[in-house]
Formats: sequence, structure tokens, C-alpha cells
Amino acid sequence: MPVPKRKRSKSRRDSRFANKGMKVKAINVCDQCNAAVVPHVVCQSCGFYKGVKVLTTKLDRTQKRIETMQSKNVRKQKVATKDAAAPSDKE
Ligand SMILES: [Zn+2]
Repeated sequence: MPVPKRKRSKSRRDSRFANKGMKVKAINVCDQCNAAVVPHVVCQSCGFYKGVKVLTTKLDRTQKRIETMQSKNVRKQKVATKDAAAPSDKE
């Protein structure tokens, strides 16, 4: 197994990390919701990428849940009104 002939000095070792400093990341603005977005990445707040809906966000799921709950409640109310009306028709 090959082994390095000499120990790397601290200076040589540390000079390897000299170019790994923090860099300013590019940030774009979402066309749909104006949120800060990393370029070439789907917007996390609205789920759009290049004007196309790609992700279902948490907000979408909660809205869908509310809609299903409301439709269930409407059905329950209809059944309740039918049951209330049915005995009166028989009498
Ligand atoms: Zn967005």
C-alpha cells in the first residue's frame, strides 16, 4: 500500500481550505408568490416551478381537508333534514 513519504506541513494542509470560504448564494424571487427562492429549485411556499404547479404544499393539503370536511358536513345536514322531514310526512 502506497504511503506518503513525508508529513504534509500545516501550511500546505491549511492552504487547501483557503478557497472554501463562505460565498454569497444567488436568490431569485418567485413569480407566483414573490417569496425568496433558490434558482433552479421549486418554490417551497407555493409549489410552483417555471409557472407550473409541481408540489402540493401544506397549505394546499389543509385547504383540501377543509373542503372535504365542509362537503361531509353538507351531506350530514341533508341527511338530518331528510330524517326530520320524513316522519312528519308519514303523520
Ligand atoms: Zn412561490
